[in-house]
Parts: sequence; C-alpha cells; structure tokens
Amino acid sequence: MNGWLSELFVSLQGEGSYSGQRQLFVRLSGCNMRCRYCDTPDSLEKTQRCRVDFPGGESKFLDNPVSVETLAAVVARFIAEDPSIAMLAVTGGEPMMQADFLEAWLKASPPERPCLLETNATIARGLDRLLPSFSVVSADVKLPSNSGEASFWKQHEEFLSGCAGVELYVKMPVDAVTSREDVVRGAELVARCAPGATLYLQPLADPGSSEAAQPAAFMEELLAEASARVADTRVSVQMHKVMGLR
Ligand code: SF4
Repeated sequence: MNGWLSELFVSLQGEGSYSGQRQLFVRLSGCNMRCRYCDTPDSLEKTQRCRVDFPGGESKFLDNPVSVETLAAVVARFIAEDPSIAMLAVTGGEPMMQADFLEAWLKASPPERPCLLETNATIARGLDRLLPSFSVVSADVKLPSNSGEASFWKQHEEFLSGCAGVELYVKMPVDAVTSREDVVRGAELVARCAPGATLYLQPLADPGSSEAAQPAAFMEELLAEASARVADTRVSVQMHKVMGLR
C-alpha cells in the first residue's frame, strides 16, 4: 500500500492540548477543502516528492507515492535520532483522504510513540478502523463565515459522533469576520456530539501582525458565547507562529 506525503519534520506542536510538545509531523498531501486561511498550501495537492528533514541534520526527498514500509523505516529513524520526540502528529492536507494507507501503515508498523490525528473532521469514512491506532484526535470545526468554504455541519456531526470514547479536542479558527451565529452553532455541535471535549477558539491572524487582527473585545464575546455551551472553551494562539517555528 502506498500513500502521498508532503513532508516529515520535527517541531513543537503549536496548537491544541499538546501545544509545546516536541512532535514528529507526518504531513500527508491532498485536501478536500480550500480554506481561505490555509497555512499549508503546499500540501493541498499531491506532489511528486516528499521532503524529509531528519533531526540529525540530513534532508532528503522521497518519491511519491511512498510505501508503508518506507514510511515505517523513516519514522523509526526519526525516533532513533531524536528520542525526545513525544508523539507523532499525522496531519495534512487532510489525512482522512488516505485512511486506507494510514490504516495499513499503523497496523503493520505501529510507531514507538503515540499518534495524534489532526483532521478537518469532514471525512468519517474509515474512522472506525483508524481510531484504534490513534491516542488523540484533534478535530477542526470549520465555520463558513470565515473559511470561504461551504458549510460542513453534517460532516462535522458525523465525524465527531464517530469519535466517542476517544481523547478528542476541537479547534475552531476565528477572526474578525467570523459570525457569532457560526460560533454558537459550532459550540452547540461540539456540546452535542463531543461532550467533554475541550474547545479551542484559535485566532487566525498571525501573532504580531496588524493585518486582519481579531479585536480583543470581539474575541471575548465569541468566547462567552462558546463557553455558555462548552464549559471548557479556551482562546489559544498558534504557538509555533509566536516562536517563528515551522
Ligand atoms: S482543511 Fe486544513 S489543509 Fe485543508 S485547506 Fe483547510 S486549513 Fe488547509
């Protein structure tokens, strides 16, 4: 079984419940969405090669598609070179577009670290087969008022409902053009389909940038609306951008 990869590298996790943790990012290519604010545009389409930056300093490219055996060997080398890697972040693009490949890889060669699935939470096909291989799910709820995309409420509902019993947190990107109604609807969806999950309102503007800044008062209003529905709601900036990391 082969899959399409974009890049592998080690960095600090910048979002969600494991922010600040050293992780190996396994970024798959291909995405079913085109969010206005996407910060990984190179991963939206399948590319000929995947860039690999080993922690020991060597960089190389793998030809796509990559076999599960090759990926397993590369991941094992990352962990051997950098035992401080605490977790694998399987991300994209949208990794659920390659659920069969992920299942084949993770079942045949479980990494020596727990795995975090970072997903836009719009594709539930294969989720039941994949979840046993993941310790944590990071699910986005995309709001049509700021994504530039259609609404995905039904898809989010199906995905979040399918994560029952799994450690899950939800990220909701927000900015100055985000509608209050979207935040309310998204928080209600999280409360109904993922009770107990932490909800992170994630400001979209780059920290330090004056462009498209989120007025603090507006963020507090959105936080109040979301918190009224999901008790554990927090505003959380993208830490890797604050630190200037990849
Ligand atoms: S779902 Fe993620 S990777 Fe896909 S376009 Fe949106 S932000 Fe980019």
